[in-house]
Amino acid sequence: MKLLLPNNIRTSMRNHLRTARKREIGGMLMGEEIDRGEFRLVDFSVDTESGSVGNFTRDSEIHDRHLSEFFARTGSNYSRYNYLGEWHSHPSFSVQPSLADIHSMQDLVEGREGVGFAVLMISKLRRLRGFDCGAWLFIRGQKPTSIEIIRERSMDIKREA
Ligand SMILES: [Zn+2]
Repeated sequence: MKLLLPNNIRTSMRNHLRTARKREIGGMLMGEEIDRGEFRLVDFSVDTESGSVGNFTRDSEIHDRHLSEFFARTGSNYSRYNYLGEWHSHPSFSVQPSLADIHSMQDLVEGREGVGFAVLMISKLRRLRGFDCGAWLFIRGQKPTSIEIIRERSMDIKREA
């Protein structure tokens, strides 16, 4: 699987990481399916309040509202624009998923109302400048695999509506 990461999304996430400093922050990822196995990250939600919690609360009101707004903005075209997964920061660790991260993602895809597949993205500011991130694909009944992240210039993106 490939994940396209547009510059505007990157910049926006980086700004949140700067503001949060040493706190872990995170939220949901919203994607556009461009081709089979190829997605573009088009939006994300962020919980800037929950402080030092490493794990996101997927069903919090803020995130649900953000997702509803995203669906409204993209014309409820769910086959193309949909929930893609979760992200959070690792300000003090490398951008590898922890065991707890892996378990919570597996719960998400395997669980009672499991979503079938979901992406986990972990991001971190570099010491001086720039931004590191890694992404993994979780599929029900399978081991997580690493996802290739491809940077993309925002102006390449064609927006509908
Ligand atoms: Zn983590």
